[in-house]
Amino acid sequence: MPTYVRTDKCDGCKGGDKTACMYICPHDLMKLDKDGSETGHVMKAFNQEPEQCWECYSCVKICPQNAIEARHYADIVPLGGSVQPLRGGDSIMWTIKFRNGTLKRFKFPIRTTPEGSIEPYAGKPEADWSKLDSSGFFNSENGYRAGNPSELIRV
Ligand code: SF4
Ligand code: SF4
Repeated sequence: MPTYVRTDKCDGCKGGDKTACMYICPHDLMKLDKDGSETGHVMKAFNQEPEQCWECYSCVKICPQNAIEARHYADIVPLGGSVQPLRGGDSIMWTIKFRNGTLKRFKFPIRTTPEGSIEPYAGKPEADWSKLDSSGFFNSENGYRAGNPSELIRV
């Protein structure tokens, strides 16, 4: 079931060219209705093709206003319940609302290093540009080596 935008919370990412939800959606579903001609809500985002939504929750997690919610399948979250994340710098808080009104919160750490501190290529071999046209695997042990069909083909 798709996501939807709480128009009372969305601020259109303050009028930026590309909103956070548009930036993150892997399926390019989120859209900002700048003049309100598509939804009647000026400068509010919306899910333009709900039937295509994967419920991946990326937009829900990135929205700085916590304005996006997801309708879940009834067998997981019955009508009236909700599952809402709130992302922090080092953890994410999930708020589970049951249909009888019970609230439960679970906080999970999402990183062990300071934000922005990871060096993705640290410890990796330097690229050897002279071998650029050779076949091989960049991330195999000891750097480059020729591809071995027996590792790729299963019969
Ligand atoms: S990320 Fe949130 S606040 Fe920004 S446009 Fe999307 S729904 Fe609105
Ligand atoms: S839940 Fe995922 S697929 Fe659906 S609108 Fe949000 S980012 Fe896109």
